[in-house]
Amino acid sequence: MNALFPIVPPPESPLEPPLALLAELTHRCPLQCPYCANPLELERAAAELDTATWLRVLDEAAALGVLQVHFSGGEPTARKDLLQLVQGAARAGLYSNLITSGVMLDAGSLGTLADAGLDHVQLSFQDADPAQADRMGGYRDGHRRKLVVAGLIRAAGLPLTANFVVHRQNLERLPEMLRLGEEIGASRIEIAHVQYYGWSLLNRAALMPSRAQLEAANAEVAAARERLHGRVTIDYVVPDYYAARPKACMGGWARRIINISPAGLVLPCHAAETLPGFSWPNVRDVSLGDVWHADPGFTRYRGTAWMPDPCRSCDQREVDWGGCRCQAFALLGDAGATDPACALSPSHHLMADAVLEADQPAPDLIYRRIRTAALVR
Ligand code: SF4
Ligand code: SF4
Repeated sequence: MNALFPIVPPPESPLEPPLALLAELTHRCPLQCPYCANPLELERAAAELDTATWLRVLDEAAALGVLQVHFSGGEPTARKDLLQLVQGAARAGLYSNLITSGVMLDAGSLGTLADAGLDHVQLSFQDADPAQADRMGGYRDGHRRKLVVAGLIRAAGLPLTANFVVHRQNLERLPEMLRLGEEIGASRIEIAHVQYYGWSLLNRAALMPSRAQLEAANAEVAAARERLHGRVTIDYVVPDYYAARPKACMGGWARRIINISPAGLVLPCHAAETLPGFSWPNVRDVSLGDVWHADPGFTRYRGTAWMPDPCRSCDQREVDWGGCRCQAFALLGDAGATDPACALSPSHHLMADAVLEADQPAPDLIYRRIRTAALVR
């Protein structure tokens, strides 16, 4: 810091309401992607929130100023009350998005959800190659079913985002994935590199792309954006491990998004449950508004006052908000440290070490349910 011209942090902007509610309805899922970011220990069905509580939460979210609800999981269509929850979101005036693997949907359920007011569907694909997709998802015939469901989503009049999670084992087929997204009529294609949290961290060495793969993917996405300009939007999430600066995780801790776990924990992001030393409130006992404004876990890393150096005096501190607290904890054991994805972090070498894994032969993927995966391979 310059003693004559000390850097004076600008006043922080006032707290705004969260933009979106991420409603993790369940951890149950018929697939078992090795890149799943859900926790190592999944929530049991018996612990899930009931319908009445979710409906109350949707009303409280709207009252708080939330605009969108993302019904997620696990596989949200595994919840028998999904239709009631979509109706509840529509009643509350929330824009609703269903994030799904699609394999449990059919024409009837999609038509009913659309009639109930569902606004959008995000359908995930594991690959463009059917055999590789089924191998990765650990679900036989899943890819073919997803293609059928994509047609049904469009037939129900719902806008469609096609989501592809990419890694070293499927990046060579990125051009086919982009073409597939176009062919099924997606208005948005999301190409998301694996983020290494929860279960996916166990598979990091098997999934980490090489630098050459990443550069080829960047060029492919840039060309596709030009080719599809004005017709299809392409979202691209690059892997932290090759970045010089971290992403503004969740738009900054407790700034844009409020997350509710299947059992009702209110969290600033779905990985926050892994952090020690927090006592997260349960929405069965508290209102969303109280949590957003005053919960000590939410205020702990909100804004810039908590930041250590080098973030404290960095001109990017209100751009990336110091990166991801959960990644700092997962890699450094300290949720209050600068995200090691930042090249200015003294621990940035950990990212470089992990990238070296991409030059080694890929180890076997670790599945949650070994027997089912063996049936698919
Ligand atoms: S990443 Fe795969 S296993 Fe995890 S919730 Fe999504 S579809 Fe299910
Ligand atoms: S030092 Fe902190 S605020 Fe600055 S770029 Fe790195 S993570 Fe962001």
